[in-house]
Amino acid sequence: MITYKNEAEIAKIRAAGRVLFEVMQEVKAAVRPGVSTYELDQIAEAAIVRRGGRPSEKGYNGYPGSICASVDAEVVHGIPLRSTLLREGQIVSIDCTVELDGYQADMARTFAVGKIDPSAQLFVDRTREAFYQGIRFAKVGYRIGDISSAIQSYVESFGYGVVRVLCGHGIGQEMHEDPEVPNFGLAGHGLRLRPGLVIAVEPMTTMSGNYDVYRKRDRWTYVTRDHSLAAHYENTICVTPDGEPEILTIPSDAKEDV
Ligand code: MG
Repeated sequence: MITYKNEAEIAKIRAAGRVLFEVMQEVKAAVRPGVSTYELDQIAEAAIVRRGGRPSEKGYNGYPGSICASVDAEVVHGIPLRSTLLREGQIVSIDCTVELDGYQADMARTFAVGKIDPSAQLFVDRTREAFYQGIRFAKVGYRIGDISSAIQSYVESFGYGVVRVLCGHGIGQEMHEDPEVPNFGLAGHGLRLRPGLVIAVEPMTTMSGNYDVYRKRDRWTYVTRDHSLAAHYENTICVTPDGEPEILTIPSDAKEDV
Protein backbone atom coordinates (compact mmCIF):
# COMPACT_ATOMS: atom_id res chain seq x y z
CA MET A 1 0.00 0.00 0.00
CA ILE A 2 1.32 3.39 -0.94
CA THR A 3 0.85 6.20 1.54
CA TYR A 4 1.25 9.84 0.58
CA LYS A 5 2.65 12.04 3.33
CA ASN A 6 1.23 15.33 4.48
CA GLU A 7 3.34 18.37 5.37
CA ALA A 8 3.57 17.43 9.07
CA GLU A 9 4.79 13.94 8.19
CA ILE A 10 7.29 15.25 5.66
CA ALA A 11 8.62 17.65 8.31
CA LYS A 12 9.28 14.67 10.58
CA ILE A 13 11.10 12.75 7.85
CA ARG A 14 13.11 15.92 7.12
CA ALA A 15 14.07 16.13 10.80
CA ALA A 16 15.14 12.47 10.77
CA GLY A 17 17.04 13.22 7.57
CA ARG A 18 18.96 16.05 9.21
CA VAL A 19 20.01 13.76 12.06
CA LEU A 20 21.07 11.13 9.55
CA PHE A 21 23.09 13.62 7.50
CA GLU A 22 25.00 14.66 10.63
CA VAL A 23 25.53 11.01 11.57
CA MET A 24 26.92 10.31 8.11
CA GLN A 25 29.31 13.27 8.46
CA GLU A 26 30.63 11.78 11.70
CA VAL A 27 31.07 8.37 10.11
CA LYS A 28 32.83 9.84 7.09
CA ALA A 29 35.25 11.69 9.34
CA ALA A 30 36.16 8.38 11.01
CA VAL A 31 36.80 6.44 7.79
CA ARG A 32 40.54 5.83 7.49
CA PRO A 33 42.95 2.91 7.11
CA GLY A 34 42.94 0.76 10.24
CA VAL A 35 39.47 1.58 11.52
CA SER A 36 37.09 -1.35 11.86
CA THR A 37 33.58 -1.29 10.48
CA TYR A 38 32.44 -2.09 14.02
CA GLU A 39 34.00 1.17 15.24
CA LEU A 40 32.11 3.03 12.49
CA ASP A 41 28.93 1.31 13.64
CA GLN A 42 29.53 2.42 17.23
CA ILE A 43 30.20 6.00 16.12
CA ALA A 44 26.97 6.02 14.12
CA GLU A 45 24.89 4.52 16.89
CA ALA A 46 26.19 7.00 19.47
CA ALA A 47 25.60 9.90 17.08
CA ILE A 48 22.03 8.77 16.44
CA VAL A 49 21.16 8.21 20.09
CA ARG A 50 22.77 11.51 21.13
CA ARG A 51 20.34 13.28 18.80
CA GLY A 52 17.30 11.47 20.17
CA GLY A 53 16.96 9.05 17.27
CA ARG A 54 16.89 5.31 16.95
CA PRO A 55 19.06 3.23 14.59
CA SER A 56 16.25 1.49 12.68
CA GLU A 57 18.48 -1.15 11.12
CA LYS A 58 19.41 -2.56 14.52
CA GLY A 59 17.20 -5.57 15.22
CA TYR A 60 15.49 -5.35 11.82
CA ASN A 61 14.87 -9.02 10.98
CA GLY A 62 17.59 -9.73 13.52
CA TYR A 63 20.20 -7.48 11.89
CA PRO A 64 22.94 -6.80 14.46
CA GLY A 65 24.29 -3.39 13.35
CA SER A 66 23.22 0.24 13.39
CA ILE A 67 24.73 0.67 9.93
CA CYS A 68 25.51 -1.54 7.00
CA ALA A 69 29.17 -1.31 6.01
CA SER A 70 30.00 -2.96 2.69
CA VAL A 71 33.62 -3.05 1.54
CA ASP A 72 34.83 -3.19 -2.09
CA ALA A 73 32.95 -6.06 -3.79
CA GLU A 74 30.30 -6.08 -1.10
CA VAL A 75 27.25 -4.28 -2.49
CA VAL A 76 25.01 -3.77 0.54
CA HIS A 77 24.09 -5.17 3.97
CA GLY A 78 27.67 -5.78 5.10
CA ILE A 79 27.62 -6.49 8.84
CA PRO A 80 29.98 -4.26 10.85
CA LEU A 81 32.67 -6.40 12.47
CA ARG A 82 35.63 -5.82 14.78
CA SER A 83 37.62 -8.03 12.42
CA THR A 84 36.87 -5.96 9.31
CA LEU A 85 39.66 -3.40 9.31
CA LEU A 86 39.60 -0.93 6.45
CA ARG A 87 42.73 -0.71 4.32
CA GLU A 88 44.17 2.09 2.20
CA GLY A 89 42.71 1.99 -1.31
CA GLN A 90 39.44 0.32 -0.42
CA ILE A 91 35.96 1.77 -0.73
CA VAL A 92 33.30 1.33 1.94
CA SER A 93 29.57 1.87 1.47
CA ILE A 94 27.74 3.02 4.59
CA ASP A 95 23.96 2.64 4.64
CA CYS A 96 22.00 3.89 7.63
CA THR A 97 18.39 4.48 8.59
CA VAL A 98 17.29 6.71 11.45
CA GLU A 99 13.92 6.85 13.14
CA LEU A 100 13.02 10.10 14.83
CA ASP A 101 9.61 10.84 16.30
CA GLY A 102 8.09 7.85 14.53
CA TYR A 103 9.42 8.60 11.04
CA GLN A 104 12.32 7.17 9.07
CA ALA A 105 15.03 8.55 6.83
CA ASP A 106 17.38 6.35 4.81
CA MET A 107 20.72 7.29 3.25
CA ALA A 108 23.88 5.68 1.89
CA ARG A 109 27.27 6.89 0.74
CA THR A 110 30.38 5.17 -0.59
CA PHE A 111 33.59 6.55 0.93
CA ALA A 112 37.20 6.19 -0.11
CA VAL A 113 39.60 4.76 2.45
CA GLY A 114 42.71 6.89 2.13
CA LYS A 115 43.92 7.25 -1.43
CA ILE A 116 42.05 5.17 -3.99
CA ASP A 117 42.50 4.42 -7.67
CA PRO A 118 41.21 7.30 -9.82
CA SER A 119 39.04 4.88 -11.80
CA ALA A 120 37.41 3.76 -8.56
CA GLN A 121 36.79 7.37 -7.52
CA LEU A 122 35.22 8.09 -10.89
CA PHE A 123 32.99 5.04 -10.46
CA VAL A 124 31.90 6.28 -7.01
CA ASP A 125 31.29 9.80 -8.31
CA ARG A 126 29.22 8.53 -11.21
CA THR A 127 27.11 6.40 -8.87
CA ARG A 128 26.27 9.60 -7.00
CA GLU A 129 25.48 11.33 -10.29
CA ALA A 130 23.21 8.42 -11.25
CA PHE A 131 21.01 9.36 -8.30
CA TYR A 132 20.75 12.93 -9.60
CA GLN A 133 20.05 11.70 -13.12
CA GLY A 134 17.21 9.61 -11.69
CA ILE A 135 15.57 12.29 -9.59
CA ARG A 136 15.35 14.65 -12.55
CA PHE A 137 12.19 12.60 -13.15
CA ALA A 138 10.94 12.54 -9.55
CA LYS A 139 8.27 15.07 -10.43
CA VAL A 140 4.57 15.15 -11.01
CA GLY A 141 3.92 14.10 -14.59
CA TYR A 142 6.49 11.29 -14.59
CA ARG A 143 6.42 7.68 -13.44
CA ILE A 144 8.67 5.45 -11.34
CA GLY A 145 9.98 3.86 -14.54
CA ASP A 146 11.30 7.22 -15.69
CA ILE A 147 13.52 7.40 -12.60
CA SER A 148 14.59 3.77 -13.02
CA SER A 149 15.37 4.13 -16.70
CA ALA A 150 17.37 7.33 -16.22
CA ILE A 151 19.55 5.68 -13.57
CA GLN A 152 20.09 2.57 -15.65
CA SER A 153 20.96 4.33 -18.89
CA TYR A 154 23.38 6.72 -17.15
CA VAL A 155 25.16 3.92 -15.26
CA GLU A 156 25.36 1.60 -18.25
CA SER A 157 26.69 4.37 -20.52
CA PHE A 158 30.02 3.92 -18.70
CA GLY A 159 30.00 0.13 -18.94
CA TYR A 160 29.00 -0.19 -15.29
CA GLY A 161 26.07 -2.30 -14.14
CA VAL A 162 23.05 -1.76 -11.89
CA VAL A 163 22.21 -4.42 -9.35
CA ARG A 164 18.81 -5.95 -10.09
CA VAL A 165 17.91 -7.93 -6.98
CA LEU A 166 17.71 -4.90 -4.69
CA CYS A 167 15.96 -1.61 -5.20
CA GLY A 168 14.81 1.66 -3.69
CA HIS A 169 11.54 1.89 -1.82
CA GLY A 170 8.87 4.00 -0.24
CA ILE A 171 9.62 5.15 3.30
CA GLY A 172 7.75 6.82 6.14
CA GLN A 173 6.68 5.29 9.40
CA GLU A 174 8.20 2.08 8.08
CA MET A 175 11.72 1.69 6.78
CA HIS A 176 10.49 -0.12 3.68
CA GLU A 177 7.15 0.82 2.19
CA ASP A 178 5.62 0.59 -1.27
CA PRO A 179 6.38 1.36 -4.02
CA GLU A 180 9.56 -0.36 -5.14
CA VAL A 181 11.97 1.92 -6.98
CA PRO A 182 14.17 -0.26 -9.21
CA ASN A 183 17.43 1.06 -10.64
CA PHE A 184 16.55 -0.35 -14.04
CA GLY A 185 13.38 -0.28 -16.07
CA LEU A 186 11.35 1.29 -18.80
CA ALA A 187 10.58 4.97 -19.10
CA GLY A 188 6.88 5.72 -19.16
CA HIS A 189 5.99 2.69 -17.04
CA GLY A 190 5.06 2.19 -13.41
CA LEU A 191 3.40 4.31 -10.77
CA ARG A 192 2.48 7.88 -11.63
CA LEU A 193 4.23 10.24 -9.24
CA ARG A 194 2.11 12.34 -6.93
CA PRO A 195 2.96 15.02 -4.36
CA GLY A 196 3.68 13.57 -0.94
CA LEU A 197 5.30 10.41 -2.27
CA VAL A 198 8.43 9.83 -0.18
CA ILE A 199 10.92 7.34 -1.59
CA ALA A 200 14.51 6.23 -1.08
CA VAL A 201 16.29 6.38 -4.42
CA GLU A 202 19.45 4.31 -4.25
CA PRO A 203 21.58 3.30 -7.21
CA MET A 204 23.66 0.20 -6.42
CA THR A 205 26.27 -0.25 -9.09
CA THR A 206 29.03 -2.60 -10.20
CA MET A 207 32.17 -1.38 -11.89
CA SER A 208 32.57 -4.38 -14.19
CA GLY A 209 29.06 -4.11 -15.62
CA ASN A 210 28.16 -7.62 -14.47
CA TYR A 211 25.28 -7.22 -12.03
CA ASP A 212 25.16 -10.78 -10.74
CA VAL A 213 25.43 -10.93 -6.95
CA TYR A 214 25.33 -13.57 -4.25
CA ARG A 215 24.71 -13.53 -0.53
CA LYS A 216 27.46 -14.50 1.86
CA ARG A 217 27.00 -17.23 4.42
CA ASP A 218 26.17 -14.57 7.01
CA ARG A 219 22.82 -14.38 5.11
CA TRP A 220 23.07 -10.59 4.89
CA THR A 221 25.99 -9.38 2.82
CA TYR A 222 25.47 -9.11 -0.93
CA VAL A 223 28.67 -9.45 -2.98
CA THR A 224 29.33 -9.12 -6.71
CA ARG A 225 29.72 -12.56 -8.25
CA ASP A 226 32.81 -11.48 -10.19
CA HIS A 227 34.18 -9.52 -7.20
CA SER A 228 33.98 -6.26 -9.08
CA LEU A 229 33.86 -3.13 -6.95
CA ALA A 230 30.35 -2.03 -6.00
CA ALA A 231 29.09 1.42 -4.98
CA HIS A 232 25.91 2.76 -3.41
CA TYR A 233 24.41 6.24 -3.13
CA GLU A 234 21.05 6.89 -1.51
CA ASN A 235 18.86 9.73 -0.34
CA THR A 236 15.29 9.92 0.88
CA ILE A 237 13.35 12.31 -1.34
CA CYS A 238 9.86 13.73 -1.57
CA VAL A 239 7.83 14.50 -4.67
CA THR A 240 6.57 18.08 -4.35
CA PRO A 241 3.39 19.66 -5.74
CA ASP A 242 5.38 21.60 -8.32
CA GLY A 243 8.92 21.47 -9.59
CA GLU A 244 11.95 19.76 -8.15
CA PRO A 245 11.84 16.98 -5.58
CA GLU A 246 13.11 17.76 -2.10
CA ILE A 247 16.07 15.74 -0.86
CA LEU A 248 15.16 15.10 2.77
CA THR A 249 18.53 13.64 3.79
CA ILE A 250 20.59 16.66 2.68
CA PRO A 251 19.55 19.67 4.80
CA SER A 252 18.77 22.74 2.71
CA ASP A 253 21.42 24.71 4.63
CA ALA A 254 24.18 22.10 4.14
CA LYS A 255 27.22 23.63 2.45
CA GLU A 256 28.14 20.39 0.70
CA ASP A 257 27.09 16.80 0.38
CA VAL A 258 28.63 14.33 2.80
MG1 MG B 1 19.40 2.57 2.98
